Amino acid sequence: MTEKAKVDMEKIVSLCRRRGFVFPSSEIYGGLSSCWDYGPLGVELKRNIKQAWWQSIVQERDDMVGLDASILMHPQTWEASGHIKGFTDPLVECKNCHLRWRSDDLKSSNCPTCGGELTEPRLFNLMFKTFIGPIEEEASVVYLRPETAQGIFVNFQNVVNTTRRRLPFGIAQIGKSFRNEVTTGNFIFRCREFEQMEIEFFVKPGTDDKWFDYWVEERLNWYAKLGIKRENLKLRQHAKEELAHYARKCYDINYLFPMGWSELEGIANRGDFDLVQHASSSGKSLDYFDEESKEHFTPYIIEPSAGVDRSVLAVLCDAYDEEPDKDEIRVLLHLHPSLAPIKVAVLPLSRREKLVKLAKEIYADLRPGWMVSYDDAQSIGRRYRRQDETGTPFCVTIDFQSLEDAQVTIRERDSMNQIRVPIGELKTTLGAKLSGEPLFVLPPGGQIWKK
Ligand code: ATP
Repeated sequence: MTEKAKVDMEKIVSLCRRRGFVFPSSEIYGGLSSCWDYGPLGVELKRNIKQAWWQSIVQERDDMVGLDASILMHPQTWEASGHIKGFTDPLVECKNCHLRWRSDDLKSSNCPTCGGELTEPRLFNLMFKTFIGPIEEEASVVYLRPETAQGIFVNFQNVVNTTRRRLPFGIAQIGKSFRNEVTTGNFIFRCREFEQMEIEFFVKPGTDDKWFDYWVEERLNWYAKLGIKRENLKLRQHAKEELAHYARKCYDINYLFPMGWSELEGIANRGDFDLVQHASSSGKSLDYFDEESKEHFTPYIIEPSAGVDRSVLAVLCDAYDEEPDKDEIRVLLHLHPSLAPIKVAVLPLSRREKLVKLAKEIYADLRPGWMVSYDDAQSIGRRYRRQDETGTPFCVTIDFQSLEDAQVTIRERDSMNQIRVPIGELKTTLGAKLSGEPLFVLPPGGQIWKK
């Protein structure tokens, strides 16, 4: 059953468009179906999500290393992985209006738009084809990778040899993937060009079930730590008949998106499928020698595979809120401070020269530490609303009294409470608040200003 999320997709799309999070790709030419451009705020949010992932997966762990493999790979990769044969969707076309559909998405045997008769399903490969070198011939065909994972499998031996890693350990990668999706729509949920954050975690056969459970738990907790409400996250186990050809077991982490529960991340136990396939196709050994037991074996792989774009959408949907505010509605994004595109906005109360000078000095002083914005247009109330709508956790207001007492106010986005602090304490105070210290814990010389 599809539960209804609290926020409409139109509201998210409109906010993203209005405030420069996401634009349609090549919009001046009418856009390109299921391709999107991240604007000035979107690129920051996306970078912050990737940074949070990299930090928790690579930087803070001693059993993981990173990789950045190329998008174009030797075409044999895709033969061995099964993508050339099996990475397909069953496509049907309406004989009347010629619209195309994924037959496994359809509830009836007729066209959902005009009711026309549909063709027999034909398998449609989702990989984008292109040519390497100057001659467009079959021998020079290469593919835009449909997942980042294969770049990790083919580098397994390189990483083992150069880092002398012992099992269990993982290789993590963030990068672009491309799929010529048949069913598109739902904004950035399903794109033809998107980014993935993938882990391939190599383990000794027999310990794979334990590690699978570990990663399911770990990944679920990661989303919750970023502030996504636990009730909007759900696990779904794949039934046997729905498992991909390489998977022994698979769970999706689903999020309650505006269109209903849908996949945010997939976690699969891939067994030894990939390494065995690539070893046999390349003729190179991808075995592992276990020093302890003195055995050679092919490791099993646990793969948590997350989408950056779907994470951006989930984070935005989860953070979106509307509150009654005098005669209007206050729209705000309750973004976790680590994800907020702009951490602090510097707002001089007026455009008087003396105030602007001080505000610009403070703005310049804060910028090396965080993404900070400066806004002196329109009333202070409107400026606060603008920052609330894009999830800026703190506003620093410089008023005429600041010129006298060298103090400024810090206003918190969610509570709208304010404290006043000496300018000399501003940077450390903001640092502490952005790390989660309650607003009313005051620095020396600070005071509660407005509750
Ligand atoms: P779906 O069933 O929704 O098509 P999938 O099961 O094919 O997704 P995977 O192959 O498991 O997806 O890819 C791992 C992750 O990559 C997904 O959980 C998702 O976050 C992301 N992803 C996959 N396809 C797309 C896409 N077309 N647009 C955006 N993100 C995607």
